[in-house]
Amino acid sequence: MEEKKPKKRVHMREQVPQVRARNFMEVPYGYTPEEAVEEASRCLSCLNPSCTKGCPVAVDIPSFIKLMKEGKFIEAAWKIKEENALPAVCGRVCPQEIQCESLCLLGKKGEPVAIGNLERFVADYEREKGEIQIPEKPKPTGRKIAIIGSGPGGLTCAADLIKSGHQVTLFEALHKPGGVLMYGIPEFRLPKAIVEKEVDYIKKLGVEVVVNAVIGKLYSFDELFNEYGSDACFIATGAGLPMFLGIPGENLNGIYSANEFLTRANLMKAYLFPEYDTPIKRGKKVAVFGGGNVAMDAARVALRLGAEKVYLIYRRSEDEMPARKAEIHHAHEEGIEFMLLTNPTRFIDDGKGNVCAVECIKMELGEPDQSGRKNPIPIKGSEFQIEIDVGIPALGTRSNPLLVSTLPDLKLNKRGYIMAEEETGMTSKLGVFAGGDIVTGSATVILAMGAGRKAAKAINEYLKWKYWDTRSLSN
Ligand code: FAD
Ligand code: SF4
Repeated sequence: MEEKKPKKRVHMREQVPQVRARNFMEVPYGYTPEEAVEEASRCLSCLNPSCTKGCPVAVDIPSFIKLMKEGKFIEAAWKIKEENALPAVCGRVCPQEIQCESLCLLGKKGEPVAIGNLERFVADYEREKGEIQIPEKPKPTGRKIAIIGSGPGGLTCAADLIKSGHQVTLFEALHKPGGVLMYGIPEFRLPKAIVEKEVDYIKKLGVEVVVNAVIGKLYSFDELFNEYGSDACFIATGAGLPMFLGIPGENLNGIYSANEFLTRANLMKAYLFPEYDTPIKRGKKVAVFGGGNVAMDAARVALRLGAEKVYLIYRRSEDEMPARKAEIHHAHEEGIEFMLLTNPTRFIDDGKGNVCAVECIKMELGEPDQSGRKNPIPIKGSEFQIEIDVGIPALGTRSNPLLVSTLPDLKLNKRGYIMAEEETGMTSKLGVFAGGDIVTGSATVILAMGAGRKAAKAINEYLKWKYWDTRSLSN
């Protein structure tokens, strides 16, 4: 019998590269309802589906796709929300290719079901139709939980704990909640209006959000416990401290860490010039240093802010780049110039304290290092200079010491991250749980959400134990 060929994946239409490289609107347009049903219909409805095992928050993927096949989009959105409070975000930024979609049976012979695209579609559909369902409020338990940091880890933990009936307050240092979703990931990959709506949903569940609250400065941690009267706390402060190249000239005007550059562009809305006159240098020739998602985002933002030339300078080859393949592909399409096997050695001063060029050296790949990636080695005498007016190191981030340095009894690892049990988020301090990037180092949105979920479960167990009434056993 002739084997049936699986249908081809329905790809999302996108803005053409030449146009989108000069605006901040989202790159893909999203599915139409017909396209969404067609893509959902590719799902084989396997008897033993494994896709859910690839999702760190265990979204019931087969059930929501089945509802989509029947055209029940709102019900499909509610099904996802049983496990995931931020579906419109995850549908856009989860690295699905190494998570849920990597376990889809269709992927063995062709392209897996576009689970992320479908998740994005139903979340957008629900929002646009205004049919957001707020679950019934549970009976109050009288317990208070403080959550520090409103990124995906903190938001997920808050959403889960409020559903258990506790009073939950989320403290955020910045003036807007959302963490990296708000200040890091650019508008054209994740529109801020969508993040705001997802945060609104969590507020509607009953979570109180306090912004401009730098814990460790404005309130000490102990004040939070004693005066606010928290029964437990979840720390999800992320890993927002930028790393620099450590080369001469790095303090010249025109050099920004990727974090600062993206924050000015996203949170301070530099992309809405002249409506928002954010202090940011709009370089004509920009060099971004690094090969991860953050480097791709910074390069593509620089282009959209009006740069004539954007160089992406990376010391290894493209095969070793940690960024998602889709982001690398988009950056190439938009005209970012990749300078691979190249490393900066110093920035050059124009005589007035501004950067005017960067000196680089060519590299070759040697033996693999501890990370398994080939070690880049400088080629003697291969130095050369490139004219630039903005330089953006995007080398990754480290743990922010602001809060943890005020907590001497909280155990940290050698790299300054909080030591917490993987399955519970429990730390060395009683009643204090932690998760997300502040524990793992820079990772992903969905892993931070998974950590928030595990901690919420563990906090519920902890509260049962803390308020265990032994009198019930004495009769
Ligand atoms: P964060 O999102 O970092 O949030 C921490 C929050 O805590 C922040 O809002 C911070 O202001 C607040 N805070 C810190 N200290 C205090 C304090 N003392 N008091 C009160 N509040 C405090 N992941 C993906 O899955 N897909 C992507 O495409 C992707 N792209 C990325 C692009 C960029 C530019 C960056 C920087 C990261 C990207 N990531 C991506 C990684 C992902 O965003 C993070 O792994 C995730 O946001 C971590 O979540 P979190 O909740 O641990 O912390
Ligand atoms: Fe896949 Fe992320 Fe959705 Fe989970 S949350 S099903 S990993 S896209």
